[in-house]
Amino acid sequence: MSNEKIQTRAIAGAGNDFPKQQPVALPIAQTATFIIDDELNAAFDAGDYRTKYLYTRHSNPTVDALQGRLAELHSAEDAVCMASGMAAISATFVGLTEPGDGVLADTVLYGATTTFLAKYLAAMGRQIVFADFADPDAVDAALATLTQPRLVHGETLSNPLLRVLDLPRIAEQAHRAGALLTVDNTFANPTVCRPLEHGADIVISSLSKSISGHSDVHGGLVCGKHEHIQSVWHAMIHLGSCLDPHAAYLIWRGLKTIAMRTDTAADNARVISDALRAHSEVERVYQPVVKDCDWLRHRGAMLAFVVRGGNERAKALMKALQIMVPATSLGGVETLVSLPYNTSHRTLEAQQNIGLLPGTVRLSVGCEHPDDLIGDLSQALVTTQE
Ligand code: PLP
Repeated sequence: MSNEKIQTRAIAGAGNDFPKQQPVALPIAQTATFIIDDELNAAFDAGDYRTKYLYTRHSNPTVDALQGRLAELHSAEDAVCMASGMAAISATFVGLTEPGDGVLADTVLYGATTTFLAKYLAAMGRQIVFADFADPDAVDAALATLTQPRLVHGETLSNPLLRVLDLPRIAEQAHRAGALLTVDNTFANPTVCRPLEHGADIVISSLSKSISGHSDVHGGLVCGKHEHIQSVWHAMIHLGSCLDPHAAYLIWRGLKTIAMRTDTAADNARVISDALRAHSEVERVYQPVVKDCDWLRHRGAMLAFVVRGGNERAKALMKALQIMVPATSLGGVETLVSLPYNTSHRTLEAQQNIGLLPGTVRLSVGCEHPDDLIGDLSQALVTTQE
């Protein structure tokens, strides 16, 4: 290389070969494209553009490492990661349905999912129907209206009132109608619930929440059987919603502490909900009811409560908090507080659909000391009292 000019040496000089020793942390393959050799040419000739690396929009070793670990945590045959939870949701519906196929979805979904289904997927010629998944008869009746039932979609724990999806029962109803069950597990995570072990065919999750755990990255996951994931992957490369390798690294790093973060945050949530239930300024507390739900390991770290004084009091309370952080999203090590009426459920129709009461506050409980979190809530409840 020594005879080349400086412009060439800066690009193609020494330092292009990476040492072969195995690092402890996951290397970030921060590259858009890969050098094509004979092995790769043979794979492409055989039609394999996923397990060999051609282009990061198709596949990347750092993203693959994360996919492998998440597949294992969910007992899945295969997994694909994407740029956000919504990227994962949209690629799943586009990849697993054809025009004319029917999709039945729960009425209490994350707002952007409902909008994607009702506005965009419906415009692609899919039949979209919503039903209250808490009512088995309503589910069967809605399934009977689908011309070609293909997917049934619900969330393990609903946002923000934490209704638990009856996974075995919904799976049985979906399968009886000839449909696959897709479950958004974002509010749980694989340490709280592994839906594939309880009848679901596909698990979707945002990776921007408790799986990464530090409120610093966006990502999404779809996992399940290889044949389904291959279709979702194919949709993803055409929608262009691949996960960036650096984001994959951040998620992989956060994932290592998922069990201890989730257990600490869930213990904190239990202590906080007990304190809120005993407080005279709190009308109601919502946490998942896990009795007889053997598919949930524990109640997780999300809770919601209704403060006396309606939405104005809830806003003042949020402002008075000194440790809890007023922000949307969830699943980070810091406790986040938000108001569903002006974030996830902004329309009156959405609020009525889920039975949202004025004064509802949502908490994503973090890993601070519970005494400090209870102290923060108590002082905010006192200072905002009329
Ligand atoms: N699913 C649920 C239940 C969510 O709460 C969210 C976001 O809050 C998403 C999906 C979308 O995830 P992302 O923000 O990573 O796109």
